[in-house]
Amino acid sequence: MPGMFIDVQVDAKVAADAALAKKLVDVCPVNIFAQDGGLRIVEENLDECVLCELCIQAAPGGVRVVKLYDTE
Ligand code: SF4
Repeated sequence: MPGMFIDVQVDAKVAADAALAKKLVDVCPVNIFAQDGGLRIVEENLDECVLCELCIQAAPGGVRVVKLYDTE
């Protein structure tokens, strides 16, 4: 079975919005977002993403959860 990888992309204007960034940190159940200065994607937690889309609901249009497949 091919593996699946998740990439989470956040618009710069969402990352720069401290209140919105905090909301993302709060909603993600697996801590993919971290706030230290700006908004940071915690790369090592990306494979924990459960595709709950809470981040997308928290910042409509500002966050994309991209499914990448390993086709090898
Ligand atoms: S879809 Fe859910 S688990 Fe995945 S990054 Fe967004 S909030 Fe976190």
